[in-house]
Amino acid sequence: MESLLQPEARVLSTLNSDGSRRWLTPRPSRGRFWHRRRAVAYGLITLFVGLPYLRINDKPAVLLDIVHREFTLFGRTFLPTDTPLLALLIVGVFVAVFFATAVLGRVWCGWGCPQTVYLEFVFRPLERLLQGEPGSPRKPAAWLAPLKLPIYLFLSALLAHTFLAYFVGIETLLGWVQQSPLRHPVPFMVMAVTTGLMMFDFAFFREQMCIIACPYGRMQSVMLDRGSLVVGYDRSRGEPRGKVKRGDVRLKIAGADEPRAVGDCVDCLRCVTTCPTGIDIRDGLQMECVACTQCIDACDDVMTKLKRPTGLIRYASQRSMEGRPGTAFRPRVLIYSVMLLVIIGALATLLLTASPVDVRLLRGRGQPYSIGTDGRVMGTVQLKLTNRTDRPAAYSVRVIQPVGGEVHLDENPMSVEPGQMRTQGGSVVLGRDEFGALGTCPVQIEITDASGSTKRVSFTALGPAGTGRSVEPSTPIREGGRK
Ligand code: SF4
Ligand code: SF4
Repeated sequence: MESLLQPEARVLSTLNSDGSRRWLTPRPSRGRFWHRRRAVAYGLITLFVGLPYLRINDKPAVLLDIVHREFTLFGRTFLPTDTPLLALLIVGVFVAVFFATAVLGRVWCGWGCPQTVYLEFVFRPLERLLQGEPGSPRKPAAWLAPLKLPIYLFLSALLAHTFLAYFVGIETLLGWVQQSPLRHPVPFMVMAVTTGLMMFDFAFFREQMCIIACPYGRMQSVMLDRGSLVVGYDRSRGEPRGKVKRGDVRLKIAGADEPRAVGDCVDCLRCVTTCPTGIDIRDGLQMECVACTQCIDACDDVMTKLKRPTGLIRYASQRSMEGRPGTAFRPRVLIYSVMLLVIIGALATLLLTASPVDVRLLRGRGQPYSIGTDGRVMGTVQLKLTNRTDRPAAYSVRVIQPVGGEVHLDENPMSVEPGQMRTQGGSVVLGRDEFGALGTCPVQIEITDASGSTKRVSFTALGPAGTGRSVEPSTPIREGGRK
């Protein structure tokens, strides 16, 4: 029975009209861009595998310790109290991606994305080695083909281990791989699931990741404009397309009765058969295009053989392809640039003015104050210090205002391990005359480490109503600046 609703001729480049998957076996085009991309890809793979072993300032170059909420990036450790800094960093990365996309299009997809790098320069080359190159009559020995999946599994496990090293550190990881998985079941499960996902992706899902799963790919239409750099086909030069007949100087166009002048595209389909997402770039810019430049290399090769200028498919903006002048000063580029500069400025300020110690001073719970036998007023406090340096530190704590005030702690100087937070209860003792008519007294406390670096915090102590200075009791406790 004929279906009532016929499918569109092309819904997705990897979908047959009956809904089944159209498996792609792109023919590699080893042109100038392919060689450059391969060099970049191997550099990125080396970086990914090598970074967990690299140490800067005696710390891992990158360690994302989620369990302890500590992130080490290139010698600097971000603690939980650095949340604003990390949030700013993440926002900065997003704005940088938007900016790069507005200017350079999907250059990340084609040159830097791990999906492209590993699929196109590790897994597909292995597949071609074991199963033969598409379109090539030379086939490797039959016994090689079954090795493909075991090798894929081994590589996926290797990548998953490397990925795990970014979260637990290479020393911990190397220790774990020498032990039974039962001694560390959760990390083992994480590694096993990551291996399975990689295996699924590189052996089966492949270009579907870019076409239907990747959110970055789906957002291209809003991030690009007509001035962004894309891989494009020059219609004005290529159309109408037509085949060159061997020994015939005239050119014929498919479907045309009479030979007539045709463009440079000879409709050889090399740009289509090489495309890893299965699209025809001559149909215009499409969301599936990951800007991998394979069609440029394929077409340049054809043009060179035909002794015509290369660049029928090339990197260009849609504006310049239409013959209109391009401009770098486009609204979205300017907006992203300003946002990026503001974020970089804020990040630099936060990093340069970051204190080596974080201080929080809280009033004690329960009775707000008590009067001592000497008539002085005592209020309980809690002092939280976070040592943000790489060395153990001892902090001296004293009251600098009002003069004559004292702070009593069990341990003063108070020692704190590197990167750790410590809380100590104590009391602040003040003269009764310091309290104003509202029964409050502004207090300033100074924290000094062995290097002489100081930090001050202010708070309002409560006491009996008197005749001295006074502030509203609701005044929050706040940190003062560094001296
Ligand atoms: S590779 Fe170039 S000449 Fe061949 S079909 Fe594509 S655009 Fe036309
Ligand atoms: S159209 Fe060209 S650049 Fe885009 S994905 Fe296909 S081969 Fe790569």
